[in-house]
Amino acid sequence: MGLSEAQLRAWVGETLGEPTYRGTQLAKWIYQKAAADFHRMTDLPVALRARLSECAVVSPNAISLTQRSKDGTVKCLLRLADGNEVECVLLPYEDRVSVCLSTQVGCAMGCRFCATAQGGYTRNLTAGEIVDQPLHLQRLSERRISHVVLMGMGEPLLNLDNVVAALRLMHDEVGISYRRMTVSTVGIAPKIYDFAEYDLPITLAISLHAPDDETRARIMPVNRKWGVDTLFQAARDYFEKTKRRITFEYLLLREVNDTPWHAEQLAKKLKGVPCLVNLIPFNYVPTPDEFQRPEAERVRRFRAILEAAGIEVTLRVERGHDIDAACGQLRGRHRGKPIPLALQAR
Ligand code: SAH
Repeated sequence: MGLSEAQLRAWVGETLGEPTYRGTQLAKWIYQKAAADFHRMTDLPVALRARLSECAVVSPNAISLTQRSKDGTVKCLLRLADGNEVECVLLPYEDRVSVCLSTQVGCAMGCRFCATAQGGYTRNLTAGEIVDQPLHLQRLSERRISHVVLMGMGEPLLNLDNVVAALRLMHDEVGISYRRMTVSTVGIAPKIYDFAEYDLPITLAISLHAPDDETRARIMPVNRKWGVDTLFQAARDYFEKTKRRITFEYLLLREVNDTPWHAEQLAKKLKGVPCLVNLIPFNYVPTPDEFQRPEAERVRRFRAILEAAGIEVTLRVERGHDIDAACGQLRGRHRGKPIPLALQAR
């Protein structure tokens, strides 16, 4: 897991002394057919399958817990080879099947409303550990995964090399279009420029959550380093380079950032920035600040102000409310508890 077709060809040739086209077959089974073990790879000779099973594993990670929502959302807790755990989510919609992936074990950004932040940062995921997530999820879905969002645990732009390697594997090997991928960032401005340099037609989502430095710094410590205006400039420059419209995510916390004043400031600052605003009502997690989710009427009013200013707005459709849907919730609840055997994936 994590090797490209070319790398698999080299590996079977050099390490196993097999014809290199076996590497192409392996890549097809691993990435396109999401085969979980070598014995299912029916166009490989039985002896080779046995040999592969002895010296390698397809995926080093195992599903330690799965939760299914009535709306079709499936949330998985993956146990990594070193015992750490990360979450990933399958989100089937009528017109697409989306997956939400993690990029780090934990997160160092300390956003006040986020469950992952409270556990702190442990380490970066490897490219293999990232691309392994959609493959585990693909096995749970009859329909093919079409969209990828990096909105699980971690800050993708602080693990840029591995993230880009994983996105390339998802594009080249799994066959998902870059245009259907979204990388979400807390707003590390210099890294937005680094990411733009790769020149991939991927949507960048910036977790803005406030239009002014004072409000934003209160809920997102990262803002003390890169303020709102710096981010708007980075967003404009990312658009110039990639021609991909920016998504601004805006988490609504009652009476913190959801007032008409905040909506008006946001509308003013977004003038002339080619973007879409995605409103996300707070998915409740217990935090020291005890943030609350705004009532529907406050959300409607916020949205109306933006729309009156000609800004395109979407409201995140709520999914998986019955299954610890917000980031980090499942791991938080599960941590330290033994895994029921019946739930362990074989
Ligand atoms: N670190 C990246 C990606 C992971 S977080 C980022 O910050 O964008 C993905 C999104 O979930 C972010 O917009 C984040 O602010 C949001 N989020 C975190 N906690 C949330 C909660 N309790 N309810 C709703 N959205 C939340």
